Amino acid sequence: MSDTIERIKCLIIGSGPAGYTAAIYAARADLKPVMYTGMEPGGQLTTTTEVDNFPGYPEGIDGPTMMVQLQQQAERFGTEVRIGMVTAVEFSKIVGGIHKVTVDNTTQIEAETVIISTGATAKYLGLPSEQKLRGGGVSACAVCDGFFYKNQDVAIVGAGDTAAEEATYLSNICSNVTMLVRKDHMRASKAMQHRVNNTSNLKVLYNTEVDEVLGDQVVEGLRMVNNQTGDKTEIEITGLFIAIGHKPNTDIFKGQLDMDETGYLITEGKSTRTNLPGVFASGDVQDKEYRQAVTAAGTGCMAALDAERYLATIETGEEVSA
Ligand SMILES: Cc1cc2nc3c(=O)[nH]c(=O)nc-3n(C[C@H](O)[C@H](O)[C@H](O)COP(=O)(O)OP(=O)(O)OC[C@H]3O[C@@H](n4cnc5c(N)ncnc54)[C@H](O)[C@@H]3O)c2cc1C
Repeated sequence: MSDTIERIKCLIIGSGPAGYTAAIYAARADLKPVMYTGMEPGGQLTTTTEVDNFPGYPEGIDGPTMMVQLQQQAERFGTEVRIGMVTAVEFSKIVGGIHKVTVDNTTQIEAETVIISTGATAKYLGLPSEQKLRGGGVSACAVCDGFFYKNQDVAIVGAGDTAAEEATYLSNICSNVTMLVRKDHMRASKAMQHRVNNTSNLKVLYNTEVDEVLGDQVVEGLRMVNNQTGDKTEIEITGLFIAIGHKPNTDIFKGQLDMDETGYLITEGKSTRTNLPGVFASGDVQDKEYRQAVTAAGTGCMAALDAERYLATIETGEEVSA
């Protein structure tokens, strides 16, 4: 057995729409990309049944099928897809330097460029009834799934800007929206609160939490509890949206890559360049604004093009900015 450490041109971390799109472009540019899928091969879309808003699928497509097709497309051009979790990184700080990556705490890989597409994980309340009905009416993405509840009654949990924005978004599609806020006030900006308070079919319940999501196969209702009085009430709904935040999967990059206060990777201007040369970020891991499959795919394409240009400038000895 050889002790030689494998060295590759382009390593892609993560197998969601961003990672696979980066892989398609990198493979077609002959960067011979190697991808590590992580703990969720196919990414977040494998947790949803219907994707209706990704261009090119006139009848819509279910998430897992779409991700298998993206994998097949990436493999057609020579991407090597490997099951494994990147557990540590030691990025070079110099232009043209080699990045060292550890997979599953054991395998060492050296890469000339790294594309990080590790996504952001939606936070849930953690109630057993909520977990049971994920995909059966419980969703963490109003923009993705709101349309399926057109002219129906839904509820949303959350108190920040995203929750307020998603609540008003749902109020345009659904008949009635009930918003559950745990405290006696919202965290959202005054402007967003104003929008919420001026939406006639959107009702805000303060000091209110989910006690249980009702329904066997699909959501049929919600039992709520007032955390001041202990009073429990039930409403009939068909959809429950959880909007209590996301956690970007960036723990292993802490101390090496620039991040914002919530852990999202910071990229330079309109590019996918991080603060370190040869390290690029695409998809939800660097985008807390849009968080859609198509925007993730778009930045995946950009990351591969940025990586290709970076390698080309190194080979020709031209100066690169990062
Ligand atoms: C329930 C639900 C429904 C949705 N529906 C839609 C929809 O209809 N339309 C739409 O446009 N968007 C939808 N979205 C949003 C969409 O899924 C995301 O915007 C998109 O998947 C982001 O892609 P990504 O490639 O950035 O990351 P992700 O899809 O999150 O993929 C991240 C990848 O990184 C991997 N990873 C993480 N850490 C590591 C590590 N250390 N090493 C190796 N790999 C790692 C994971 O295993 C995963 O493969 C939905 C999201 C959810 C949760």
